[in-house]
Order: sequence, then C-alpha cells, then structure tokens
Amino acid sequence: MTTLPMAILPWREPEHAASLLDAAKEEAARFLASLPERPVRAPASLDELRGALSLPLPEGPSNALENFHDFVQAMDRGIVASPGPRYFGFVIGGTLPVSLAADWMVSAWDQNPGLYATSPATSVAEETAARWVLELLGLPRESGVGFVTGCQMANFTALAAARHAVLARAGWNVEDEGLQEAPPLAIVMSEEAHVTIHTALRYLGIGLRRAKLVRSDGQGRMDPSDLRRVLSTLRGPAIVCAQAGNVNTGAVDDLATIVEAAREHGAWVHVDGAFGLWAAVSETKRHLLRGFELADSWATDAHKWLNVPYDCGIVIVRDAAAHRGAMGVRAEYLEQTAGAERDELEWVPEFSRRGRSVPVYLALRALGRSGVAEIVDRCCAMARRMAETLGKENGVAILNDVALNQVLVRFGSSDEITREVIARVQKEGTCWLAGTVWQGRAAMRISVSNWSTDEEAIDRSADAIVRCFRGP
Ligand SMILES: *Cc1c(COP(=O)(O)O)cnc(C)c1O
Repeated sequence: MTTLPMAILPWREPEHAASLLDAAKEEAARFLASLPERPVRAPASLDELRGALSLPLPEGPSNALENFHDFVQAMDRGIVASPGPRYFGFVIGGTLPVSLAADWMVSAWDQNPGLYATSPATSVAEETAARWVLELLGLPRESGVGFVTGCQMANFTALAAARHAVLARAGWNVEDEGLQEAPPLAIVMSEEAHVTIHTALRYLGIGLRRAKLVRSDGQGRMDPSDLRRVLSTLRGPAIVCAQAGNVNTGAVDDLATIVEAAREHGAWVHVDGAFGLWAAVSETKRHLLRGFELADSWATDAHKWLNVPYDCGIVIVRDAAAHRGAMGVRAEYLEQTAGAERDELEWVPEFSRRGRSVPVYLALRALGRSGVAEIVDRCCAMARRMAETLGKENGVAILNDVALNQVLVRFGSSDEITREVIARVQKEGTCWLAGTVWQGRAAMRISVSNWSTDEEAIDRSADAIVRCFRGP
C-alpha cells in the first residue's frame, strides 16, 4: 500500500489555525494602530514591490506562519493608508472595526450564501440587512435587494431589471429573446453620468450610442428642462438614469422633477447613488434627495459611506418581480426554497459568492440609525471645514457648492499649478487626494468618506496642502 504525502495534513491541527489567526490579529492591529501616523501614500516603488513579492512559484509546502509574517512585511510598504483619517482620494470609505471583525467571521465561516440551504444563518442575516437598508433609506419595503461587489454591479443589476420591465411592457421577453430583434430601447442620462453606467450599457448589450445625453448645470446636475426636451423626442421603452452624488461635486440631481418628467413618458427611473444615497439618513441632508423614493431602482455602495470593508454594493428595485425576473435562477440541482426563505442568488448576477451582507448587518446593528447619520453628517461637516480653510488662502478657489462630502479646489491661475500642488501633496504624504478635470479645468478632488476623519485630520491635511501650494 502506498501512502500519500502528508505535508499539509498537520495544518488540520487546531493549533495551526489558531497560531495563524493570532498572527493575523497582531498584524492587523499593528496596521490599524499605524494608520494615524504612517505616510498615507504607499512609499515603495514598483521595482521594490516586485523584488519583495514576485517570487518563483514554490514547488511545495513550507511553513505557513513564516510565510504569513514574511508576506505581511513584504506588503507593508506598498499599502496605501486609505482606511485612515487623512485619505481623501476618489470616493473611498474606511472600515468600521465592527465590520472588519464581521468580515473575518465571513472568511472563517466560509459559507457560500447563494442559497438558504448553503447557509441558513447568512440568508437570515442578509434578509434582515436588506430590510434595515430599506427602512434606513426610507425606500419601499416591498423592493428587491441584492448585495453585489460594488456600485458598478448595482447599476448593472438595476438596469437589467429596468430592461426586463420596460421591454415586458412592450410585449418583449428580453431574457428569452435577447435584444437583437427587440423594440428599440432608449437610455437617457446626463453628460455627468458615472462611467459605470456606460459600462453597464455595454454589458447589457444596449450599447453606448443608444444613450441620449441630457445637459447638466454648473454643479453637474441634470437639467430637467433639457430632460423634458429629450424625452419628448422618444417613443417606446425608455430608462432614465439619474444621479445622487456626482463624483466630482457631490451634487444631487433634482430627482422629484426628473421622476415626474419620466412618469409622463412611462420611463423607468434609476438613481445611481453610490455614496449620495446615504445622505437620506441625515436629517439635515435628506432634503437634497427630495423625491428620490419615487424612483424605480437605486444603486449604492456600502463600502463607501457605510464604511464596511471591500467589497459591497447594494442594488434596490421597487418592482421585486422585475428584479428577480432579470436575475433569478432555477435549476433542479439547486435545493431551492418555495420562496419563504431568501435564496440570495436570486437578486444578483453572481452565483457563488461571499457573505458580503454580513458586515453590513453588523454595521447597521452596531451603529443604528443615528450612528449612520453621524458618519454622514461628520463627513459633510469635515468637507466644509476643509473648504473653508483652503478657501481663505489667496489664490485658492473652491469650485463647487460643498453640499455633501466632496470639495473641488483650484490653485493659482493655471491647470499646471493645480496639478503640481496635487503631485506635491501626494508625495509629501500627510494626506492623499487625486486630481480631476472639472468643466474643462484641472482641479484637486477631496472626498471625505471616512468615519474616523476628525477636525485634527482636516486641519493637519489643510496645512500640508497650503504648504505645498506656497512652495516646495
Ligand atoms: C464609486 C461610484 C460608482 C462605482 O462604484 P464601485 O463600488 O466602484 O463599483 C458608481 N457611481 C458613482 C456615482 C460612484 O461614486
């Protein structure tokens, strides 16, 4: 009788897993403790990282704990302190410790929560998180909710549901028949629609050229009168994509007027609210979203303003049957329920997936309604503080109305100066932010999306930015 090699069988010993998890806890805690002071940018060069990480494929097993420590050390200089309080790049949230802990359990449990049968507890946690999200945002309780990788897939899923519904009304079953001979489908969006809406149109076989563009105003809001003009040229099935939270300015479209105009034409209204939708939780900001609850579908991110770890987006569709009609899956070899229990895969493009609703569940349970509102309100107040501080400086202009958490800044009299200040700030390392182009001109884009950003973080960052502007 031959015996198989047993190199990894000792990994079954409970002590083996425990020693690795203890190490992970230590390394993770050390990393989190370093966030307030470590340089925000990643200091290592590409060559340095390849030198440290790009090893030949090992021929066989080696000590897992040693590998773990060496690996974490090799990664460290290439890690961006984006979960820290002075990271303002793109629109990137941090992570609440409680959600991080929940995420660790998701990995330890290693469930495949596509079906109730594969993880009953995850299914119930997810249906509860879904209900809480609807209650918190004030959206229709009968809506379908899916937990996807991010707002890209939330936009995709919502537009798939929209495509299903508006074509069904025109007598066409798009899931069975496809689009090749379908009635023409019009997509209406502003020139400021996020690029992930464009991508969704590509994935859905609708095509970018099918989009009718509506003008936007100086803050990036869709112009409702131009929307009426565009809608009046259309016949047949139509979908309007509106936006809550422009990636540059944070501006929210006039959703009440957009919904009203779309209704007159029988069009579906989708709202891309990747971060802006969370403003609905704040008593002082909710008015910006007036009418948003009248739309047909919504896409948002939990990994941005709710500050759960990557990755987690949320799609919400008022007509749950259309949502399921677009995404639902049935097969004999799946142990599917009659419908009383939630099979998570019915609401998302993924089949197998991660229990990404679990960190959302625990974030909402630990924060409650006022805790979420506190994160939103504080981020907005910190954005205002940043704008006020920088705006006092001679030669610095704030380009947007800072209504939410986004600030656009311009330095001196040319694009070149603005780009130079951004490059200096990135290199200096006190904080990190990126550049953008706003209405044809270079701008610094500051996004405050982290629960831990406080006055001290803003003041220190504003000082660094001003120093970089005044001279090298
Ligand atoms: C971030 C963002 C997206 C894309 O979200 P991901 O989570 O990166 O997929 C879409 N729309 C808007 C307005 C965004 O800010």
